[in-house]
Amino acid sequence: MTNTQDVQSAVLYSSTAPTQTQERRLQAFLLRTYGRELPLRWEKKEGLRGFELRVGSDLYDWSLAGRLRQYADRLNQTDLSAADIMPLMRDQTRRFSLSAKAEDLGEVLSVGDGIARVSGLSGASYGEVLEFPGGVRGMVQDLREDSVGCILFSASSEIIQGSRVHRTGRTAGIPVGEAFLGRVVDALGSPLDGKGDIAASGYRPVEMPAPGIVDRQSVTTPLETGILCIDSMFPIGRGQRELIIGDRQTGKTAIALDTIINQRGKDVVCIYVAIGQKSSSVAQLAANLEKHGAMDYTIIVSASASASAPEQYIAPYAGCALGEFFMYAGRDVLIVYDDLSKHAIAYRALSLLLERSPGREAYPGDVFYLHSRLLERSAHLSDALGGGSLTALPIVETQAGDVSAYIPTNVISITDGQIYLESSLFFSGQRPAVNVGLSVSRVGGDAQTKAMKKSAGSLRLDLAQYREMEVFTQFSSDLDEATKNQLTYGQGLMLLLRQNQYSPLSQHEQVVLLLAALAHAMQKIPLSELSDYRTALLRAEEEQNGEILRSIDRTGAFSDDERTQLIRTAEEFAAAYLADKQRR
Ligand code: ATP
Ligand code: MG
Repeated sequence: MTNTQDVQSAVLYSSTAPTQTQERRLQAFLLRTYGRELPLRWEKKEGLRGFELRVGSDLYDWSLAGRLRQYADRLNQTDLSAADIMPLMRDQTRRFSLSAKAEDLGEVLSVGDGIARVSGLSGASYGEVLEFPGGVRGMVQDLREDSVGCILFSASSEIIQGSRVHRTGRTAGIPVGEAFLGRVVDALGSPLDGKGDIAASGYRPVEMPAPGIVDRQSVTTPLETGILCIDSMFPIGRGQRELIIGDRQTGKTAIALDTIINQRGKDVVCIYVAIGQKSSSVAQLAANLEKHGAMDYTIIVSASASASAPEQYIAPYAGCALGEFFMYAGRDVLIVYDDLSKHAIAYRALSLLLERSPGREAYPGDVFYLHSRLLERSAHLSDALGGGSLTALPIVETQAGDVSAYIPTNVISITDGQIYLESSLFFSGQRPAVNVGLSVSRVGGDAQTKAMKKSAGSLRLDLAQYREMEVFTQFSSDLDEATKNQLTYGQGLMLLLRQNQYSPLSQHEQVVLLLAALAHAMQKIPLSELSDYRTALLRAEEEQNGEILRSIDRTGAFSDDERTQLIRTAEEFAAAYLADKQRR
């Protein structure tokens, strides 16, 4: 209720002017409620049956519509089951008396583009959900002295200037539960896949403070992407945030998708948040996941390009809330935000509509906070909290490779590393188009298994050397033997890192390939046949050293003897492979 001291006057709305008796009664009511009489102003409101009284931001609705609404609310609160409905209704009707309680009711001042400005509601708080006519919900985003700005999650022609707005006293949230696995939902958790209602087991606010330092522990378990290039050089740990950044059409989504597919059987819940994408792309992606058996453990949260800016803005937070439900239950979760550039654009649109002042690149001043409070919620929880984890793979799209634009620099500085994809590599056929020099993973190394760490050894360095030498020797024709060997070796490594979509490699397969390549066992194989040799080698190692490979999968390590054995097999196999080729 409005503070009694703040109230200066009261306004009476009705279709005809009040009589003196009515005015006297109203003054008596004001004296009772606010401790003093107040100057009473009458305003004509055409077509109103009964009257309304506004005192400060308190509204007393004694009109016919208001009485009916109160009556309906009362019936709603009553537990009406079919058998006893009549006596109950009779009883309710007999006992019904109109409450003289003030409500914090608001009135729409203006509405458009998914934004409503509402007067009154002096008690509303930031982030509170408001209810509009037609069942539309909105969220308070802007608090001013005489009005609040509110974003609307859906559109309705019923919302017009003067529409009533109710407070709910709750912050925005999303239903959560196991039943969401395998489903495609919108930013508010309603199903989009036509598979019927989802039985939620709880409700979580979309905005949650991130776990504090004592609630966390360091990253210890790898989150395997199944992509050789990433797992060997830029390993990701469970609980880490690794950015995937690159121009459009460079295979960003493909990396995230492969990572999700590679989690099959690893007990990781995956959440893919699509922001501002075409609905058809999202449907395609869902079909691909389904085809590769990944949908059972995956949730897709989609706010497509046709969704309102508020929906696109809330989608990653909603996805994160779903992820937190599993994380706090002790599970491991992977969440992909595809992509945060479009998220920032949606936020910019609604901020400008809320009349916040634009800053750099016309983004509002708090766009850094927008992403930092989202990504900060990724964590590896302490054992006391169940030891669950939330790994985030945010995606950012750059324009012409410009990583120094506003949003890319922001997100780079918030994450624990980035996988940088390059158009030129992509078009030259080097896919995934990871730029090895500019990519980095800052914490995942701790989580890498011993086997991967030992076998990946000098890969990064060798590739760096190769790149340097490649530039040097570009224009010279007569090269000595050693340099030529170096170049072929480097080219071989680059070819080794090429990997098709939807073909993740298991840990032991990656170990076998890395050991063979770095021991120069593939040196003599012509580059054009490397891809064939690779497949054949994996088969041969499986046949001859199956035992060792199982032990690597189990323990994540190998002994020196095992390493020698694996390399020897690769060398012998290379010789046999070449001899076989010559014979044919
Ligand atoms: P956008 O900017 O449109 O979101 P993107 O960067 O997410 O694009 P993708 O959609 O993942 O890129 O990939 C672009 C195209 O490249 C797709 O047709 C995909 O199938 C193909 N592609 C991606 N990765 C590979 C790969 N490793 N091998 C072969 N083709 C690939
Ligand atoms: Mg994409």
